[in-house]
Amino acid sequence: MSFTLAIVGRPNAGKSTLFNRLVGKKLALVDDQPGVTRDLREGEARLGDLTFTVIDTAGLEEATDESLQGRMRKLTERAVDMADVCLFVLDARAGVTPTDEFFAELLRKRAPRVILACNKAEGAAADAGLIEAYALGLGEPLRISAEHGEGMADLYAALMPISDAFAAKAAAAAETAPETDIFLPEDDGSEELDLGAAEEAWRPSTARPLQVAVVGRPNAGKSTLINRILGEDRLLTGPEAGITRDAISLQIDWDGLPMRIFDTAGMRKKAKVQDKVEKLSVSDGLRAVKFAEVVVVLLDAAIPFEQQDLRIADLAEREGRAVVVAVNKWDIEDDKQQKLRDLKEAFERLLPQLRGAPLVTVSAKTGRGLDRLRAAVIKAHEVWNRRVSTARLNRWLSGMLEAHPPPAPQGKRIKLRYMTQAKTRPPGFVVMCSHPDKMPESYSRYLVNGLREGFDMPGTPIRLHMRGQG
Ligand code: GDP
Ligand code: GDP
Repeated sequence: MSFTLAIVGRPNAGKSTLFNRLVGKKLALVDDQPGVTRDLREGEARLGDLTFTVIDTAGLEEATDESLQGRMRKLTERAVDMADVCLFVLDARAGVTPTDEFFAELLRKRAPRVILACNKAEGAAADAGLIEAYALGLGEPLRISAEHGEGMADLYAALMPISDAFAAKAAAAAETAPETDIFLPEDDGSEELDLGAAEEAWRPSTARPLQVAVVGRPNAGKSTLINRILGEDRLLTGPEAGITRDAISLQIDWDGLPMRIFDTAGMRKKAKVQDKVEKLSVSDGLRAVKFAEVVVVLLDAAIPFEQQDLRIADLAEREGRAVVVAVNKWDIEDDKQQKLRDLKEAFERLLPQLRGAPLVTVSAKTGRGLDRLRAAVIKAHEVWNRRVSTARLNRWLSGMLEAHPPPAPQGKRIKLRYMTQAKTRPPGFVVMCSHPDKMPESYSRYLVNGLREGFDMPGTPIRLHMRGQG
């Protein structure tokens, strides 16, 4: 379990330079078209022996209207919300500007942890900026040079305690295993949510908007669907070039539920953005998936489960997102019953990894089925967030072991001792056992399928890790 760092700061502070240094390869797109580099990128960073996820945010601008800057600021807020720690980068040579002050305030209010870094500090020209930076009230600034690689040891020292805290959390989740084969701890009192009560469990006052991505082939009907949900043609008001490369988001209220919908291709097509930007955008579906909690894979009923659909659905699963499959243009289907049977058969055959994910038929054009889609999204999100108490898990595990004991490779029976849920979003479980490396795939699958059924967790990826007794 590693942590996520968001690099924030105003344009030109050196965020991308730092991102590239931490990620170690040139992931950034280089383009002279304005706006093209203003996006959110994610990479796996290495700093000494630390590994973590790093997000390079958009340039922060102080605009509060719906202009490009305003929207990019919102995207940045999103990145801040995804991060465990923010690295606020200043241009020490330029000193502290009013924009820096504005965002220092935003970070103080919004970010759980902030590390302040004065960049471009490779010479004496940075000294005045460093002194000003203290006044931001974000603690002592680190002195770094992203371009020259200076100050990386200080950054390492600042991140190490955070990394340790996350490692400790992970270790606690996989506590030392008891001696007996099955250990049943006291019920820890944590209650599973009643699935039927998913909607009641949603608390708009405290919850953030539910993050949804609508993905699918061109012409599947993504724009039509989103416009139908919005109830007006707001999406068609031309998004700016550059920003359309990214999964850009709209916050909406879907019959009382706050949701943030990420969309890409449909908007881009409508905005008629130049070819050049279009070609850089192959991965935007992927980006929408990364930022989403629930991914709606929208299929065209006439041509369902094409290669592209399968790929994006598989990606959503691998990224650990809750998935809802929606089949659009249902209004033009004649033999709906036969078609539905065919779809279900194809779904099971082509996407076994998404077993149990809801399949909803809709017509974006007429609006039919959208209530069911909304309910499926809410339920998928609830399941994705589900936590099962350790006591219930272990009661369940002992039943599973009795029904079908684990194998005995080379005559040595694998002992499953204890199980706990280590994480949610998506649900992840750890089983403490002897010889974890010898556990056959088929037995893991038996347990995963059993978890799905036993705790009613359809349509969400379930991660199961076997761990030996260290
Ligand atoms: P971003 O807009 O915050 O992502 O900034 P960039 O990473 O694109 O950097 C903006 C400019 O500052 C580029 O010309 C970089 O070469 C330059 N720059 C970045 N880091 C440093 C540094 O440590 N020292 C100096 N002198 N220039 C830097
Ligand atoms: P996108 O590329 O996925 O955003 O697809 P669009 O929303 O632009 O839709 C592509 C085409 O399919 C348009 O001609 C829409 O009018 C049509 N379309 C979208 N949804 C439906 C639907 O539910 N039924 C029918 N019959 N046509 C639809």
